[in-house]
Amino acid sequence: MKIVRCISCDGFGWFEDDFSGEVEDCDWCSGVGYVYRNEKGTDKRIPRDDFETVADQLEQLEIERMREMGYQGEAKKPWQQDIRKDTNLGQNPYDNNE
Ligand SMILES: [Zn+2]
Repeated sequence: MKIVRCISCDGFGWFEDDFSGEVEDCDWCSGVGYVYRNEKGTDKRIPRDDFETVADQLEQLEIERMREMGYQGEAKKPWQQDIRKDTNLGQNPYDNNE
């Protein structure tokens, strides 16, 4: 089954009420931002139990969405990534050459 961006919230997974400023989960995708679409073009929520299975696909779709929104971030070098900051990989191996 194909995974597509939720047509109701456009991948955000939630709505913000313009007047009250309150945030509500999208009913169509139950806050996931993406739904299954079958061959007939019918959308179906992705059950919570499936999240682990489809995590990679969702991440990929999310990256595409960020790009579409104009996110032009360049790929960071490994030692520039926050996730590696306090590890050996968080050190610039070229420090001595610069
Ligand atoms: Zn939605």
